[in-house]
Amino acid sequence: MSVYQEEDLLLLSGIQHFAFCERQWGLIHLEQQWQENLKTAEGHILHERVHDPDYKESRVGVVSARSLSLKSYSLGLAGVADLVEFIPLSDENDSAGVPLSGRKGRYQPVPVEYKRGKPKKDDRDAVQLCAQAICLEEMMSMQIEYGYLFYGQTQHRFEVVFDHKLRQRVESLAKSMHDSYEAGYTPMARKGVKCGLCSMENICLPKMMRKTRSVEVYLKEMLSEANLEIEM
Ligand code: SF4
Repeated sequence: MSVYQEEDLLLLSGIQHFAFCERQWGLIHLEQQWQENLKTAEGHILHERVHDPDYKESRVGVVSARSLSLKSYSLGLAGVADLVEFIPLSDENDSAGVPLSGRKGRYQPVPVEYKRGKPKKDDRDAVQLCAQAICLEEMMSMQIEYGYLFYGQTQHRFEVVFDHKLRQRVESLAKSMHDSYEAGYTPMARKGVKCGLCSMENICLPKMMRKTRSVEVYLKEMLSEANLEIEM
């Protein structure tokens, strides 16, 4: 596994964009063309509420840390966790947990990520949460088995288990993000059903890109038949 330096760290939140569409990530993180639409605006409002230090959510014995900075040198990612809950362990001597300053006993950290809408069919939210857990594990030298995704539309939290398959997916996505970042290349559009859900559709113009690509392919084929070369 790679070990990245401080200056190599990429935004952790970008892994959800990369998992959804590599081009969307490229447009946002390489070209900084974020387009605010209703969905992302709603998401920001929900995040602002979570990041508001006055936002209260009390469960007996659970210590809540909001807007916790995260970093992983193995993934090469850095960001902020919406919420990390520290659950008190029944056995104070349980080595699985971590101690908290000024408090007795040990606690199990559990990341909680807030999202607008409802649970999605793809794994983009789960990979973001798992990347947060890997950061926490690295920072606290411990294992985290699960976390929660909370959805604004359904007002429910769903457990996500950080199994081997999900961890491998996160590592693979993080590696590909770094490869793309180093190449400085925004991937081409591949139009699909997901484009209708994408906040970047008006900037990305996937239909037009497909037509442009067809012309390129046509010209290349014609020139190849004529044994000529052209740069595109
Ligand atoms: S419009 Fe489609 S191809 Fe373009 S960034 Fe969005 S999901 Fe990707």
